[in-house]
Amino acid sequence: MSIAVVGAGWAGLAAAHALLRAGRQVHVYEAAAQPGGRARPIEHPTLGVPLDNGQHVLLGAYHATLDLMRTLGIDPAHACHVQPLRLASADRALRLNFWPLPAPAHRLGVLLGSHGLDGWRGRRHLGRVMRALNPERIAAHETVQDWLCALDCPPTLLSSLWAPLCLAACNTPIAQADARIFARVLRDSLGARAPDSHLYIPRTRLHALWPAQVCAQLGARLRRQRVQCIEQERHARSDGAPGAWRVDGERYDQVILAVPAYEAQRLLASLPGANGYLNRWPAWQYAAIGTVTLRLRAPWHSGQAMSLLWDDPARNAWGQWCFDRSVSAAPGPEQHLAHVVISGAERYANCDAQAVIEGTVAQLRAQARRPLPAIDAQALVTEKRATFLLTPGLARPQTRTPWAGLLLAGDWTDTGYPAVLEGAVRSGQGAAALALAAPA
Ligand SMILES: Cc1cc2nc3c(=O)[nH]c(=O)nc-3n(C[C@H](O)[C@H](O)[C@H](O)COP(=O)(O)OP(=O)(O)OC[C@H]3O[C@@H](n4cnc5c(N)ncnc54)[C@H](O)[C@@H]3O)c2cc1C
Repeated sequence: MSIAVVGAGWAGLAAAHALLRAGRQVHVYEAAAQPGGRARPIEHPTLGVPLDNGQHVLLGAYHATLDLMRTLGIDPAHACHVQPLRLASADRALRLNFWPLPAPAHRLGVLLGSHGLDGWRGRRHLGRVMRALNPERIAAHETVQDWLCALDCPPTLLSSLWAPLCLAACNTPIAQADARIFARVLRDSLGARAPDSHLYIPRTRLHALWPAQVCAQLGARLRRQRVQCIEQERHARSDGAPGAWRVDGERYDQVILAVPAYEAQRLLASLPGANGYLNRWPAWQYAAIGTVTLRLRAPWHSGQAMSLLWDDPARNAWGQWCFDRSVSAAPGPEQHLAHVVISGAERYANCDAQAVIEGTVAQLRAQARRPLPAIDAQALVTEKRATFLLTPGLARPQTRTPWAGLLLAGDWTDTGYPAVLEGAVRSGQGAAALALAAPA
């Protein structure tokens, strides 16, 4: 049985890996020069250091991804800087430590080892949140803000802790984000075993975590080609199986479409019956993520791999999270880098890039406790359609489509997670499992 995978992001490559392991004939089509999709390596002319298109963080709860790495012989603990979940602002006004107690007692760690939680009301609220981590009990239309306020969240905690955490997890403002899915992420990380809440920050390029190995296995079966057309042959085959598929004219038994939702819409639109099916898809809205990268003359050694920044766009302070690569990167030039991540980056769409960088650098200098070394180069990279906006009740498409032999994968399918790497991997593996289960 031959299978085409369209798209070599994490979803498509996870699908390809599962199919290769099962000994299937698989071809992967990728439109871009580099595989990896929204988690791809880039070269920036001013920085001169290999980079990703944006800083990514994985969680210990990303079981599908971490297991995939292990299957390929990569130890996540070596490939990533791993640390217990510690959320601290760069100015140290807020500190949340999750003490390494065995579950479920480790939930108490947040109450024991924390500072800046708005007194007992804040601690009581966090205790309530920990007890309320049951997505099934949250109304489908509820936003994260509504859900937290119903749990008596002090206003300062809403703005200083939950708003940046929600933006980081969902890339959607707290007043708009789906409470069910946010609660699921919290449940699977903070609410599960202590290691599930650990942060995994890649030491080098995301591509080296596992995609590079799958690309090497694929060899020439990974083609650079932007697929223009997917068609199904009209007649069922003589054995009763549905008609074969053609991808830009090439024949396959099955196709896994692992492209972004807007591209899947384009490719599906010409199939018979597509209108009725696509009309049931959500009206996707997208949110941008920006990353300001600084190449420093010396490694920063701030002591914190990741710290929270207080943003204030009205004052040109855009950053929400800062990553000091001298703490998390493998030895080499990357240790001279610092990244500032800006979720909801569409807010600076009308600003000059240089002004955004300067505002962000000033913000970092004002909030970081350890002075920033001299900056040799700086750059802003913005991914305009970084993720879909995770509003409540989105009817995200399933892996199966109305057309036999045509499956969907991608972080935007119904993964139960926000648009994240783990959702992409799970969706790719789920599509591969369905493809493998189809009669040969
Ligand atoms: C800046 C940034 C920061 C992020 N931070 C995090 C984070 O910290 N943690 C986290 O878990 N997630 C994070 N994410 C989200 C994560 O990157 C995505 O969820 C994930 O990469 C999506 O993978 P995918 O395979 O579903 O889609 P994509 O990566 O979009 O892959 C789709 C692929 O299909 C290709 N394609 C499109 N059209 C065609 C065509 N016609 N023919 C052939 N190929 C085609 C594209 O070129 C692309 O390679 C971040 C995303 C961004 C942009």
